Amino acid sequence: MKSFGEMIDGYARFRTGAWQSQHERWEQLKEGQSPQVMVIACSDSRVDPAQIFDVDPGEIFVVRNVAALVPPYETTPGRHGVSAALEFAVQFLRVREVVVMGHGMCGGCQAALTQDLHGNELGEGGFVAHWIDMLDDVREPIAADLGTKGRDAERAMELAAVKVSLANLRTFPCVQEKEKRGSLTLRGAYFAISDGVLHLLDETSGEFKPA
Ligand SMILES: [Zn+2]
Repeated sequence: MKSFGEMIDGYARFRTGAWQSQHERWEQLKEGQSPQVMVIACSDSRVDPAQIFDVDPGEIFVVRNVAALVPPYETTPGRHGVSAALEFAVQFLRVREVVVMGHGMCGGCQAALTQDLHGNELGEGGFVAHWIDMLDDVREPIAADLGTKGRDAERAMELAAVKVSLANLRTFPCVQEKEKRGSLTLRGAYFAISDGVLHLLDETSGEFKPA
């Protein structure tokens, strides 16, 4: 894996490569951005939405965090990073679609399942524990059914997390209103790291199927 120093070599390649070859695009982009799609993905280093969807700069507005989660609409004190990004994308950029993309082998979902970080101090796992505890409700039936270890339980948790985020997205008044009007579509997706297959959620059946 590369150090930041080695990444500067990559930057040099970018400057002589894509920066030059896509000059017209960058000329346009300096005027502003107008992506049609927002993607909410996991911070996991293996699941880069721009690579998976093979899109260029300016095409997707992205938020990444532990387990690709969207918290519910909350007005409590605190700094609501996902809510701010969602608000900006939906109300100001007026994206047409919001995609929540979970993934296989998700450490955040695994921790939600095992609750190994439960009770840890802030800075010692407590921030992660309190972030992923928004999956506690869906964890219960999965843990009861499949246990808390192994890929079957983990995958069930990973898929359930996408549905939790979609449900939480729908607690935001601006999302509710635009979805009702038909100017915003929500989508659930799941990228299986083991075979590189993207699955899309059919919200009618609740099933994820290969794209
Ligand atoms: Zn993850």
